[in-house]
Formats: sequence, C-alpha cells, structure tokens
Amino acid sequence: MKIVVIIPAAGLGTRMASPPSAKAGKPAASKQFVDLQGTPVLIHTLRKFAANAEVTEIFVALRQTEINSFRQRLEREAPEILRKKTVLLEGGEHRQQSVSNALAAVVASGNDVVLVHDAVRPFVTDEIIHDVISAAAKYGAAIAGVPAVDTVKQVERTAEGATIKATIPREKIVMAQTPQGFRYDVLKKAFDEAAADGMIGTDEASLVERSGHPVAVVMGSPRNIKITTPADLELAEFFLKR
Ligand code: C5P
Repeated sequence: MKIVVIIPAAGLGTRMASPPSAKAGKPAASKQFVDLQGTPVLIHTLRKFAANAEVTEIFVALRQTEINSFRQRLEREAPEILRKKTVLLEGGEHRQQSVSNALAAVVASGNDVVLVHDAVRPFVTDEIIHDVISAAAKYGAAIAGVPAVDTVKQVERTAEGATIKATIPREKIVMAQTPQGFRYDVLKKAFDEAAADGMIGTDEASLVERSGHPVAVVMGSPRNIKITTPADLELAEFFLKR
C-alpha cells in the first residue's frame, strides 16, 4: 500500500498581513513561507512527512511563480526532503483546486491512501500521521480532530457584529484538523462529484461526506495548530523553543 501526501501550499495568506509590512508597501509573505526560527513553516511541515517511514510520496501544490525558487531552496536547505519522491506542482485558485491539481498528478490504486495536510500545520506528529493512515485504510476516510473546549454558538451576522441563534452542544463538536486521509478511490470519487456539481468545500472531508462515505475521526492534538495569524506564529515559536 502506497501512502501519498498532498500539501496544498498555494494560498496567499492574507490573514497573516501585519500593519508594518503593509506600511512598507510590501505584500506580507504567504503564511506557509513565514520563517519559524529561520526556516519557512512549509519546510518544517515537509520535514515531518519526509522523515515519516510510512509516507512514500509527497506532492506540494505551490503558486506557479514560487515553484522554481522553492525547489532551489529545498536543494540548498533541506535536501533530505527531496530524497522521498517529492513533486512540486502548480496549485489553483482555492485550496480545493490546489488539492485537485495534485490529485490529478497522483498515480495510485484504489486501496492506496492519500493524506492531505495543511502546509501551515508543522507540529503534526508521527503518531497522528500513523493513526490517520490506519483509520483511512480501515474505514476509507478519516481525519484528525480535537474535542471543542469552548462553547460553540451559531450566530446570525448583524451590522454591529453578531447575535446568537443557538448553542451547539459541545460534546457534538469536533474541531477538524489535518492530516485528512482517504483511500484513493474514495477521495477521487468525492472530488469528481464535487467538480461536477460546482461544490467548493473548506476541507476534503466535507467533499467525502457529501459523496455519502462515512468519515472517521481520530485524536489530533491541541499542538497541531494551523498557523494563521501573527498570534499563532508566536505560539509556534514558543513550541519550537521547547
Ligand atoms: O487559507 P486557508 O486557511 O484555507 O489555507 C489552507 C491551506 O490551503 C494552506 O496550506 C494554503 O496554502 C492552502 N491553499 C492552497 N491554494 C489556495 C489557497 C490555499 O493550496 N489557492
């Protein structure tokens, strides 16, 4: 059984924009290229999968203009990542299109497992990767998730902010993380159906759910954070220092 990893890393990361860079008139670095102790977040993430014994191939979706420079950077700074079969390809306009482009480049049989992992979650562990692979092989689809610790409210947006419409019982909520893992045939069918229907989801599981396949949840970790805002970056620096 092959284990293929797809890393969508073609986002613009506008939520990471900080006032100082805006003042200087420079666009903020995409969040996957922001440095964490001198190394881009994306390289930290790729190292986790390159060092994982179960993973066989890695496909990274990037913006077209970044492919060559990123390849050179890997050759210079992280050649160990290129020792696995590592393919850099062009992403799309949104995350789903980036994953779809990578999936189109994957050659796999139905029972092989495809993991999709956010470029900006560098604190994923071998244990989480293993648990998602096992559950995906067993059930066809599985994601890492963590229980909600905050009380979750459904709201209606208003001009001033929002008004609560309902409180969703916390025990019914799981915060979805990545990796999200699928048997190749399950993921391919879900992507084909979504493309045919013009459906755009914010994660892969949502496409698989709508294609009628149950998706298992395995325990992720509160440390498996998605670096999205400058505050997340501070937390990431703290985790790395320890
Ligand atoms: O912006 P968002 O939080 O949805 O991004 C999640 C992941 O999807 C990031 O790793 C980002 O680089 C990636 N992405 C992508 N192609 C896009 C937009 C986002 O690969 N067009």
